Amino acid sequence: MATKFESDSRRWLTLDYHPLKLEQQIREFWEVNRIPQKLMKLREKTNLGVLGYVEGPPTLNGVQHVGHARGRVMKDLRYRLKAMQGFYVTFRAGWDCQGLPIELEVERNLGVKNKKELLERVGEKRFVEECKKTVMKYYREWLSADRKLGIFMDYDKAYWTYLDEYIEREWRYLKRAWEQNLLGEGYYVVAYCPHCQTSLSNAEVGLGYEEVEDPSIYFRFRVKETENEYFLVWTTMPFTIVTDMMMAVHPEAEYAKVKVNTETWILAKERVEPVMQELGVRDYAILEVVLGKELEGVKYEYPFLDIVPKQRELDELPLVHTVVCEDFVDVSTATGVVHLSPGNGEDDFLAAQKRDIPVYVPFDDECQFTAEAGGFAGLFARDADSKVVDELRKRGLLLSVETVRHEYPTCWRSHHKLVWLARREYFLWTDRVNQRVLDAAENVNCFFEGPKNRFLSFLKEGKPWCVSRERVWGAPLPIWVCEKCGLKTLVASKKELLERAVEKPSRDFELHKPWIDRLTLKCKKCGGKMEREPFVLDCWHNSGASPYASFTDEEFEKHVPVDFLVEAIDQTRGWANSLLLEHVILTGRAESPFKSFLFYGFVLDEKGRKMSKSLGNVIEVNPLLQRNSADVCRFYMLWKCSPVESMNFDAKELNRRPYQVLGTLYHLHRFLMQNAEYDNFDPQRCTIKWVSERNALKPPDRWLLSKLQRTIKEVSDKLEACEFQFALSELEEFVVNVVSRQYVPMIRRELWSDDPKTLNRRLAVYTTLWRALKTLVLLFNPVTPYLSEVMYQKVYRELDKTLPGSVNFEEWPKPDETVQDEVLEQEFETLLRCVSLVYSARQSARLKRRWPLQNVVVAATKSVHGALEKLEETFLELANVKEIEYVEGLPELDLKRWALVSGDRIHVLVDTHRNEALRGEGVMRDLARRVQALRKKLGFMPTDILDAVHVAELEFESVRLLEPYLTEMAELVRTRGVYVHEKRSDVKAEWYRRTLDGKKVYIAIS
Ligand SMILES: [Zn+2]
Ligand SMILES: [Zn+2]
Repeated sequence: MATKFESDSRRWLTLDYHPLKLEQQIREFWEVNRIPQKLMKLREKTNLGVLGYVEGPPTLNGVQHVGHARGRVMKDLRYRLKAMQGFYVTFRAGWDCQGLPIELEVERNLGVKNKKELLERVGEKRFVEECKKTVMKYYREWLSADRKLGIFMDYDKAYWTYLDEYIEREWRYLKRAWEQNLLGEGYYVVAYCPHCQTSLSNAEVGLGYEEVEDPSIYFRFRVKETENEYFLVWTTMPFTIVTDMMMAVHPEAEYAKVKVNTETWILAKERVEPVMQELGVRDYAILEVVLGKELEGVKYEYPFLDIVPKQRELDELPLVHTVVCEDFVDVSTATGVVHLSPGNGEDDFLAAQKRDIPVYVPFDDECQFTAEAGGFAGLFARDADSKVVDELRKRGLLLSVETVRHEYPTCWRSHHKLVWLARREYFLWTDRVNQRVLDAAENVNCFFEGPKNRFLSFLKEGKPWCVSRERVWGAPLPIWVCEKCGLKTLVASKKELLERAVEKPSRDFELHKPWIDRLTLKCKKCGGKMEREPFVLDCWHNSGASPYASFTDEEFEKHVPVDFLVEAIDQTRGWANSLLLEHVILTGRAESPFKSFLFYGFVLDEKGRKMSKSLGNVIEVNPLLQRNSADVCRFYMLWKCSPVESMNFDAKELNRRPYQVLGTLYHLHRFLMQNAEYDNFDPQRCTIKWVSERNALKPPDRWLLSKLQRTIKEVSDKLEACEFQFALSELEEFVVNVVSRQYVPMIRRELWSDDPKTLNRRLAVYTTLWRALKTLVLLFNPVTPYLSEVMYQKVYRELDKTLPGSVNFEEWPKPDETVQDEVLEQEFETLLRCVSLVYSARQSARLKRRWPLQNVVVAATKSVHGALEKLEETFLELANVKEIEYVEGLPELDLKRWALVSGDRIHVLVDTHRNEALRGEGVMRDLARRVQALRKKLGFMPTDILDAVHVAELEFESVRLLEPYLTEMAELVRTRGVYVHEKRSDVKAEWYRRTLDGKKVYIAIS
């Protein structure tokens, strides 16, 4: 074997695309050369503008799974895109370290059943230590997953939500709220998780709806001092009858008094028929219809006076156990009569407050009834349901009991059914600034309608935000209360706190329980002792403080409102919500801390099921990327569907189309590199200008460059609009169809020659490919950073040492309008349409594309002919025919000999007759193709010149046809000679058996 030019590219680009191996090399390249750090510095120093960013901090209570990765890939895409466009983005990491999710993870690891056991057996101090250990453990896992994914975040400047300096700055939000009278204590009905023993915010309630089973009962309350007149009521929470205080009707709705046997039942008129049907009552008659307001003040008999002594006491008070009028009563469901338990319902609570009715909440922290609940004492709220049903039955008040399955809020962490309880909590009175919040939200660009509506509709509820939690591992509420005079003070700085502390704290002091609870202050008013309110803050408040808490004052001014955030769709109620509320309070302005927010859909399994531990279908990133390419995964996640849609992740799909697209881009580079090196292509010298001045550019090159400009524009626009899937299909189309399937076949044959006279022509092709492929590598970089860097280092920097050190330091491509040629693109459209008609005609006549044919007739309009005439050379090359004839009308030809295919008012007739010459050439091309495949299989470079190609045991007839083409074949397959043998034994060689038109033939090369 001999080679004319010892190529280098073998060292760089292996025969096949092995992304895992390449990614390992590039990862090391980035780390050794500190590319992410250099990029950040570069853009900080010179930029076209500054774009703030705050990381939506992942909670460090578990490992990264594909659902997280989907968002991280979008974040990284946006960062690389903006950095290439010349912007400085503060792409710093952030870690969510406190709160219930971490606590529960630690509880599980410690084998603790509930909070009581936690405090008794483990204690706060050790628990806090364990929480920190857990945070660090998962931090390492996340870092490793991010590293594999190729995320370019700044981890050195990451923020951690549990650090004192962060918490101090978080307190500034509370201080601002305190000053504006937006933070305070109050009784309120909050959602409470009996397992976690803490209240949850409204936003958290929205995170955890599940389908659960509950009793569904119809019961009745007797109207006081009547023998048999009753109100009909329905509920799915029988235990709330223990805390019942009133019944509500809608004042303007009609209520019917219905005669059933000897009794009278009262319910909403429009509900009479369906309720009677449900209760199986056939004989009934409406006696009278009254308006709801006429029922106001009617007293009813509370049924458990005998077993709940406290209720006997309350029953003495005016309005207790009477009918009240409320607009929130819905008369289109149930009976239109609602029983109210102010201790267990928000509307109920507000109705009681309005009327000065005391709130009766006989529950302890575990949500068990206290002694105040008399006969129900000691029962867990939901466990009391059945006893209540029994007691109603005993008293003849139960009408029916069934089970319903319905959506019910559960704890987003522990999945226990929530209970609504009136509790003393601290609230941010966000309802008082709701208009400002809504105005701020209106101006946010969410890219898609659905998520925006979701975001707005939740904010519109405008409920106060309960920020206190009865837990341990969280940012403490910095409010101290005087034991003597009740004065409250909020201290928002560690320095001030230590100065005012009555006793100096221990050395290991930090802004956490238990240390902070040991600090007592002296009351400024009466000199009494002040103790801290024992609450910690909602972890959503903690992470929502990040815009101010993670930056310095100066950075905050410069970077907030930030430019662009991406988080999963559930964050409309989570982080996005708390960010916005806190920012409006902090600044006092109707301003959002983010200008745009992309909410992306969940990742489901391949069957469209939610990923969950119990189903065992969670795909974790670390193991996934041990076996699969990060680039392929990144491409897949962005390409498969719109970012707002839920994505069904099927690992089997990775190695199909996504791998194929990236593999094609890789092989196009091998193709360019191998040929370009052969001709000592120098990209510095051979610019588009240089080759066009030498008239070496041909229509296919100009067509490709024109199409390229359109692709640049489309990809840029689609990425900007977060329509990632469309941007990627543009890239896919350009790589697979335009370059690989269309352009390369147009120019391939020109590269086979090594004639010095056609060198400029070959250089023009390399220049065109160089320009197109290098642009593609830049366009791919935000999506597939590894592949882009590989190509950049091993092809572009290899041939042009003046290029910057990393693809990331390059500028984002801009379309060049001077290169765009609409007319030429139209003409190529026509050309490609005609070529595909020729292919169909060949198929119908069973003529392989490799077999040259003599004639093709194209019957079409003048404009079609015009385009083909202009591009005739390319047409003949692609169609593989010798001559073309243009006619206007369809000619009368013998259809036994001519294959006809029509489409788009174009008729193509292909001459199926092959004379000896054509058949000989066909045999030669068939053989040549097998030799080329064998060369590739045996690892020869296209540029390598073979000593000899041997063919044996070919049919006699084929040998005869082939003979005149041996020289041409030798040139085609790059060998010094082609030798045909009768038998394999004629020459000693390594023979490979192949089939040709169903008959075997042997080939050897050396
Ligand atoms: Zn819980
Ligand atoms: Zn005091």
